[in-house]
Amino acid sequence: MPTVLLVEDDSMIRTALVKALSRAGHVVSAVGTAVDGLREVAQRSPDVVVLDLGLPDLDGAAALRMMRGDSDVPIIVATARTGETNIIRLLNAGADDYVTKPYSGDLLLARISAVLRRRAGARRRADALEVGPLRLDLARRVATLDGRALDLTRKEYDLLAYLAARRDQVVSRQELVEEVWRQPYRGAEQTIDVHLSWLRRKLGETAAQPRLLRIVRGVGVMLVNPQ
Ligand code: CA
Repeated sequence: MPTVLLVEDDSMIRTALVKALSRAGHVVSAVGTAVDGLREVAQRSPDVVVLDLGLPDLDGAAALRMMRGDSDVPIIVATARTGETNIIRLLNAGADDYVTKPYSGDLLLARISAVLRRRAGARRRADALEVGPLRLDLARRVATLDGRALDLTRKEYDLLAYLAARRDQVVSRQELVEEVWRQPYRGAEQTIDVHLSWLRRKLGETAAQPRLLRIVRGVGVMLVNPQ
């Protein structure tokens, strides 16, 4: 269940929002000052923060900047000022989204869901690399081609992941030796060629009919989307 930190000094608003958010299935903690909010972010790392900008102890924009400096938690700011310049300033200072006061619990819930969805999507993308039919699950170190798992050695996987992270760019053999094998280049050229040919076979392609893996003669090698 997502945890929400609500930073709001008005106790009536705070009580109403805690009720609305809890009813929607969120675990809510609520504080009334910026200093308490900063401490909660540091100690409990909530999934999302709703930050009122009119707080008694710190200027709202300063509180936002301090929170952003400490953590990459999604922050939705609640502001009483509706001007476009103000909103732009807040987004530039690190807010992920905003609500203007007064706002309903339903609007806030929708904004929270949207922010959490974006965050989950970004996390999924960071955990995987895709090049056409090839997919690498970076956390599990598993590569699949057209949905079938490839049986790769550790080095073959590292080589493929290195190239997949640089798709459509020619990578030199020297770079592969230094960055994937972590060895000095001299004499290791053949090792690379051998591993590339093994990898190519496991990808189900040949030098005469390359699909994903392209050798650029005299320059290096490149992974491309064949579609
Ligand atoms: Ca306030």
